[in-house]
Amino acid sequence: MPDLWLPGAERHPLSDAAPTDTEYAPRVIWHITWDKNGTAAAPVDLVPFDQLVRYFTGGGSGTAPHLLWDPFTGRTAQFYPANSRSKSVVDNAGGTRTNRTGRVCLQVETLFFPYCRVNGRSYATVRDTPAKGLDKILTWARSWGVPDAWPMGSPTWSANRSEHTWETQGGHYAHGQVPENQHTDPGPMPKWPTAGPAPKPGPPPFPGRSAFGPGKSNASILLLGQQLVRRGFGKHYRVGPTRDWGEADRLNVRDFQLAQKWSGSDADGFPGPQTWARLFG
Ligand SMILES: [Zn+2]
Repeated sequence: MPDLWLPGAERHPLSDAAPTDTEYAPRVIWHITWDKNGTAAAPVDLVPFDQLVRYFTGGGSGTAPHLLWDPFTGRTAQFYPANSRSKSVVDNAGGTRTNRTGRVCLQVETLFFPYCRVNGRSYATVRDTPAKGLDKILTWARSWGVPDAWPMGSPTWSANRSEHTWETQGGHYAHGQVPENQHTDPGPMPKWPTAGPAPKPGPPPFPGRSAFGPGKSNASILLLGQQLVRRGFGKHYRVGPTRDWGEADRLNVRDFQLAQKWSGSDADGFPGPQTWARLFG
């Protein structure tokens, strides 16, 4: 199972964790804390992170999210494990479920309000912030199967809601896109940083020439054969590659070597380090 707690988040577990409706696709709901209202002409200092932590673990626990996220410092605090519902959206009795919908339904309260002031500069939207630590939250969400998409479009300040989309598609939702809710947060969000390329496994080490040849049987022969097939040089196999060296292995290796424009002893059908490197490279 992926991590129940975002790695690096400060943990403040609330005692009333409860399961989600796991038959629905996994998702994230984004909010801003919207503590105050600044304007372009009169920005207001951002509220301290710890004040919000006290709120969500105290008087505001009835609307606690999974995560509180400070996009200026990257600091995060977590109140419910990933497999619990949290409570930041309205869920009317009966009707569409909201806080519980999804294999996970991760809710993030971004510490933000329009025209908040941080270090002497004011910010109109979350999109304008440094969005520090967003990559970690997205990596965590992806580990729970949440796709990077916004099924109802990337957020704006106006709300739009579709129960059908909500119930049928995983991904990222704005609070303003959740059925039964009146809020319009979080407003424009940063473009998602793309997932880094998965680390490419290096080629397996060459096991040595003595691993191959008549009478030999080992895992390297099987690996060799499977890679030959993968690269399109498997036509001499009748039953597919095995651990046992056979003439089909030699002929397939030879075809591969000839395709490299090698000749003579370089194309004798027995793999050396060059053949191995080229085949797995
Ligand atoms: Zn909200």
